[in-house]
Amino acid sequence: MQIYMNGKMVPKEQATVSVFDHGLLYGDGVFEGIRSYNSHVFLLKEHIRRLYDSAKAIDLAIPMSQEEMVRAVVETCRVNDVRDGYVRLVVTRGPGDLGLDPAKCKVGPNIIIIADNITLYPKECYEEGLPTITVATIRNVPEALNPRIKSLNYLNNILAKIEASNAGVKEAIMLNAQGFVAEATGDNVFFVRDNVLSTPHPTSGSLEGITRNAVMAIARAMGVEVREPVTSRYDLYTADEVFLTGTAAELIPVVRIDRRVIGAGKPGPMTLELLKRFHAFVRDPANGEKIP
Ligand code: PMP
Repeated sequence: MQIYMNGKMVPKEQATVSVFDHGLLYGDGVFEGIRSYNSHVFLLKEHIRRLYDSAKAIDLAIPMSQEEMVRAVVETCRVNDVRDGYVRLVVTRGPGDLGLDPAKCKVGPNIIIIADNITLYPKECYEEGLPTITVATIRNVPEALNPRIKSLNYLNNILAKIEASNAGVKEAIMLNAQGFVAEATGDNVFFVRDNVLSTPHPTSGSLEGITRNAVMAIARAMGVEVREPVTSRYDLYTADEVFLTGTAAELIPVVRIDRRVIGAGKPGPMTLELLKRFHAFVRDPANGEKIP
């Protein structure tokens, strides 16, 4: 496996960073998780744009253009022959001293691209749906650390994930400080009621998921009304269908939340139709950057 590091391809064993990198010391950096399908990197330009937006929000200047970054990702997939796989793109603040001050990270960011594979949930979960819970750990308050920033600091999500594991389920739904639904630990939340598709607005305290936006566009193209309401647990409990979206998870049905059975307790018709169309959408060469 060859890893892209700061403009060069290096063997996996040699792809290392300094213990003084603030990405390690403080979670100071940003990242993207991206998929390739059918020899195309899916919605790569959208992912790169979000990466640069996240970097801007934390005042981190990435020393290459978005176009160069697009080419670097495609090249990393090509070199590793990752044509249906998963890419992790990480930009750290770079090495500094043991203090917090990013101004002392004078060497500059480490830019790392790993092309590999990922399987988040077993196949049965997609066929039968996931049981989930809402957890006590609230999603980061936007005024403190905005969940729209895809930063290397995922402890908030990890704490929620631990709560889910402790309760014997694979995923948690996180609420915001007002008690409204924000998102899952690594996915956005959707619900269907009377054929209307809804997902919380990003201002609820969620990442504006690339998969989320794709699913909303697919639904609208089907003629489905799509809304972004303030969402309470009541809305999820009483929904006809609930599902999660994310690059790694793709689109996964949810059949139980806090022991309440959602709809008929199995993946619903809108979820299954969206899943079918999503699989076609991701494989359409028009929706990705070609890997030569
Ligand atoms: N929310 C969080 C917290 C995430 O980490 C992710 C990405 N894994 C998502 C939502 C989904 O975003 P995307 O569809 O862009 O992968």
